[in-house]
Amino acid sequence: MAQAVPYSMIYDYLVVGHGLAGAILASKLEMSGKTFRVFDVAKANAASRVAAGLINPVAGKRFAKSWRVDEFLPAAAAFYQTMEAHYQTPFFHQKPILKLFSTPEEQNNWMGKSTDASWQDYIETTHLQLPPSEDIYQELGGLLIQKGGYVALKDFLKCREQELFSKGLLQTEAFDVNQLELLPDGVRYGESEAKKIIFCEGAAGAENPYFHWLPFSLNKGEILDIKVPNFEASYIYNKAVYVVPLGQNHYRVGATYNWREVNEETTPQAREELTAKLQDIVRKPVQVTAQYVGIRPAVRDRKPLVGLHPELPQVAIFNGMGSKGVLMAPLLAEQFLAALEGKTALWPEVNIARYFSLYLASR
Ligand SMILES: Cc1cc2nc3c(=O)[nH]c(=O)nc-3n(C[C@H](O)[C@H](O)[C@H](O)COP(=O)(O)OP(=O)(O)OC[C@H]3O[C@@H](n4cnc5c(N)ncnc54)[C@H](O)[C@@H]3O)c2cc1C
Repeated sequence: MAQAVPYSMIYDYLVVGHGLAGAILASKLEMSGKTFRVFDVAKANAASRVAAGLINPVAGKRFAKSWRVDEFLPAAAAFYQTMEAHYQTPFFHQKPILKLFSTPEEQNNWMGKSTDASWQDYIETTHLQLPPSEDIYQELGGLLIQKGGYVALKDFLKCREQELFSKGLLQTEAFDVNQLELLPDGVRYGESEAKKIIFCEGAAGAENPYFHWLPFSLNKGEILDIKVPNFEASYIYNKAVYVVPLGQNHYRVGATYNWREVNEETTPQAREELTAKLQDIVRKPVQVTAQYVGIRPAVRDRKPLVGLHPELPQVAIFNGMGSKGVLMAPLLAEQFLAALEGKTALWPEVNIARYFSLYLASR
C-alpha cells in the first residue's frame, strides 16, 4: 500500500512560469476543472511584461497572412473577451491597424494580392493615397487592417496573479528545477505532488535541463513609451515599427530584433533606431518617457515548442511563442490540454517531437 506523504498537496499539474504562456495555460486548466499550482518569480522584464501585446493578422514586408491566423484569431478574441468579462476590465483593445506603404513597390506588391478572397476578412480598405496629414506621413497610402489590436498584457497578468494568489494557487518564488523529484507516475516538488509538470519559462526555458536540447533562437527586443503632445490617434500605425495608441497622447513604439547580443540591457542604439523609424511615421516632436527590454522565446523554425519530454511523460513544455504569443497562446493552450487528455493530436508544426533527433544527439 502506498504510504501517504505528510503535508503534501496533490494536483493534476504544476506550472512553472506565469508570463503569457503560463497564465493562459493555467486559465485553461482552471476552466476545465483541473487542479494545479503555479510557480513564478514575476520578472519585471519578462517578454510578457514589456511586449506591446499586438495582434496583427498581416505580418512582414511581404504582406503574408500570419501563420494559421484564421484558426488562432477567433480563439484568441474569444479568450481575451471572456477574461475581460470575468474581471470587468478591458484588456483586448480591438483597433484597426493602418499599414502605411513605404514605397511604390510596396503598393504594387499589395495590389497584386488584393483580389485574393482569403484576405477579404482582414482588409477593410486599401488606400492608394491618403490626404496629407499634419500628424502622419501617409502620402503613399496604406492598408487598413481589421480584426487586430492589442492586449494590455500587464493588466491581464495582474488580474490573473491576484486571483491565483488569493486562491493559494500561485507561489511567487523561483522554481529550482534541481529540486524536482521524478516519481513513477508524476513529480514532487517540496510539498507539492502532481501527475505532470509543465514548464512555461519563456527565454529561461533555454537553460532548462530537461529541454536545453531544443533549438531556441532567443532574440532581444527593445521598445519605447512615448508621448506626442496634442496627438490622439485612432489607428495603430505600422511602417518599419508599430505605434500603438495607449490613450492621453501616450504610445508604445517597437520593436527591435537582435539575435546577436541577447542580454537585458537597454541601449542608446535601439533608442535611436526606434526614434528614427518613428520620425518616418509621426511628423510631430515626440518625448520618450521609458525604454524597456525583453527576450523573446523564439525558435529556429519560428514555431512554438509544445509537448511531452521524449522519455518522461510527466514532464512537459509550453514555450517558444516567439513574437506572436498573444495571437497563438490561447488556441495552443486549449489544444495542448486536449492532447494531454488524449482527445486530439498536437499539430506536428508545434509538437516538440519534430526535434526528438536533437534529443538523441544530445545524449
Ligand atoms: C520588446 C518585445 C515586444 C513584443 N511584442 C509583441 C507583440 O506585440 N505581440 C506578441 O504577440 N508578442 C510580442 N512579443 C513576444 C511576447 O512577449 C512573447 O511571445 C510572450 O510574452 C512569451 O511569453 P512566455 O510566457 O512564454 O515568456 P515570459 O514572458 O518570458 O514569461 C516567463 C515567466 O516565467 C517566469 N520564470 C521563468 N523561469 C522560472 C523559474 N525557474 N521559476 C519561476 N518563474 C520562472 C518568468 O519570471 C516569467 O514571469 C514581444 C516581445 C518583446 C521582447
